[in-house]
Amino acid sequence: MTMSAGAATAAPTELDAAMRSEPAQVQAVIVIVSRDAGTREVLHRELSKRYGADYQIVACARPAELAAWMRDLRAAGLPVALVIGGVGGQDRDGIEVLGAVRAIDPRVLRVAAISWGDWASARSVFDALTVGTLDHWVDSPAQSPAEEFHRSITDFLREWGSGRPGGFEPVRVIGQRWSARSQELRDLFSRHRIPAGFYDATSERARQMLHDLGLESAELPVVVLRFAAERSTLVNPSNAEIADAFGLMTPIPSGKVFDVAVAGAGPAGLAAAVYASSEGLQTVVVENEAVGGQAGTSSMIRNYPGFSQGISGATLAQEARRQAWTFGTTFMYMRRAESLSRHDDHYQLALSDGSVLAARTVIIASGAAYRRLGTPALEDLQGRGVFYGAAVSEAPAMRGRKVFVAGGGNSAGQAALYLAKWANQVTILVRAASLSDSMSDYLIREIDAAPNVNVCFGVQVADGAGTSHLESLVLADTASGTRRSVPADALFVLIGAQPRTGWLGEAIARDQRGFILTGGDLPAGTGRRWRPARRPLPLETSLPGVFAAGDVRRGSVKRIASAVGEGAAVIPLVHRFLRTTAAARAATGQQHPSLGQHTHDRDSVSGPVNVPLPSTT
Ligand SMILES: Cc1cc2nc3c(=O)[nH]c(=O)nc-3n(C[C@H](O)[C@H](O)[C@H](O)COP(=O)(O)OP(=O)(O)OC[C@H]3O[C@@H](n4cnc5c(N)ncnc54)[C@H](O)[C@@H]3O)c2cc1C
Repeated sequence: MTMSAGAATAAPTELDAAMRSEPAQVQAVIVIVSRDAGTREVLHRELSKRYGADYQIVACARPAELAAWMRDLRAAGLPVALVIGGVGGQDRDGIEVLGAVRAIDPRVLRVAAISWGDWASARSVFDALTVGTLDHWVDSPAQSPAEEFHRSITDFLREWGSGRPGGFEPVRVIGQRWSARSQELRDLFSRHRIPAGFYDATSERARQMLHDLGLESAELPVVVLRFAAERSTLVNPSNAEIADAFGLMTPIPSGKVFDVAVAGAGPAGLAAAVYASSEGLQTVVVENEAVGGQAGTSSMIRNYPGFSQGISGATLAQEARRQAWTFGTTFMYMRRAESLSRHDDHYQLALSDGSVLAARTVIIASGAAYRRLGTPALEDLQGRGVFYGAAVSEAPAMRGRKVFVAGGGNSAGQAALYLAKWANQVTILVRAASLSDSMSDYLIREIDAAPNVNVCFGVQVADGAGTSHLESLVLADTASGTRRSVPADALFVLIGAQPRTGWLGEAIARDQRGFILTGGDLPAGTGRRWRPARRPLPLETSLPGVFAAGDVRRGSVKRIASAVGEGAAVIPLVHRFLRTTAAARAATGQQHPSLGQHTHDRDSVSGPVNVPLPSTT
């Protein structure tokens, strides 16, 4: 395909050529859109050189025609992977042009190409990224070869390709399209980044597959693992059965005592595993659902240091898992830690499959569950105007916008005041009739004094709508149920987080809301027996040698980077604890002494431990 950049008439010719391609050679398309001939030329040259064999590259000189182009490409069965467009200069409306693409095809990634040094356009692009009008940005190639440019483009294409059905399918699932279990499996495989093909049991293809397997009347879903020499076919399997059949878990020899057992493979647990195993500690991680925890559910994390384009939670989690695995961490997937107890010189974690893990130290990284709004439209708009948590990093992008904060606690009040520095108007949505029971007085007074913050009482968010990003919310009156729609640019949801600590029973001291107390937070004289002569280490719980990291910990900052930081910071403390206990053993000349000699005794694991402290989280 040839390109005569600058000649507006050249574009339709390219489009025609793209649409004439044989179905057998169907390629995805990268569309360039810019009024500026130079921008089109440089982008077309670089993209064709590097991706011409796998993608068709077409350039559109008239943004007004882009929508028609994309519809024509779709009608011709040609999927569009990226639309990359100029911003600034002749493309002053470039952000709006790219933003409109989502309404035509929500799967297409929208990439702004910024000319080097065009800082003014860069600022608007960053704001558009925050509210979800754009997906990515890239510096226009300034030299050839443009490796930085291509590194970004390759990542974008990988991101687009990973969400595409077809191709390599090591796993096939045949199930009822809309059943909860089918959805659950879809989510599970996608969070683990395992390419899985889903076949609706009512389709001809699925019926044939079930027939070939001799499973016409089997209970659904049927999961076929196609990567092993001998294929495994699982009928209506549990998550644990799927994990077992994957063959990734090696049996743990009986009597094995690990140096560290980590409960939870969210960011905190994964970071702990990477550091522990890279520093020679024998480490086992047990994860109940999907590796990545809450972070793994985020389609795009924009505030994790080092990823200026953002990174999907699942990718971040899988990279960390692979890293820990490479260093030698043992993973127990789809198993829940159900209790913690003390035996001789080690702790035992009883797992949901009936097995027991033994370890000299334990890191509790079981995180928290954010209360969700639960409406499908708002879940879909997450990261595109709907944000869970205070999302401080999104605040500057709220300049001039109409913002809502759902929640009546201190965190909601603080978020509202912070957002008000940029937003045109901030409305706090509270279910109760007043803030006095849920928010500190000083915050209530600050909110009263803020000219652009108002509070709406007796309402809850019932629904929302938007194509490229959030455009409106449906608010329901809690008393009458009456609904009204209001225009909205962003919604910050701060309706509470619940720590996942129920499984610990009475074993560990926690605050009233269930968050684990550590280090200096552990009050002296609470009836809890802390036997060691020393004070608890930072991040150490009421049980010596048991640590907590991440969202599960009282006072933790609910951020991925801080969870990772705590996961890393806990490992030197683990070393210290192991050194101390080893020295104690040497001093007493015991072969297998109880740690209780110097740290605690067996009794200290039992007894009432919930400490009536107000929660700060
Ligand atoms: C939708 C969403 C988007 C977010 N986006 C961002 C963002 O962009 N930037 C940011 O900084 N923060 C973000 N956060 C917050 C961030 O994800 C959390 O602060 C972070 O994941 C906390 O990590 P963690 O490891 O402490 O806990 P979690 O992520 O909660 O992980 C805990 C893990 O432990 C497992 N587990 C629980 N109980 C057990 C048990 N008994 N046995 C075995 N395993 C167990 C869970 O299945 C889970 O995988 C977001 C949160 C949500 C919900």
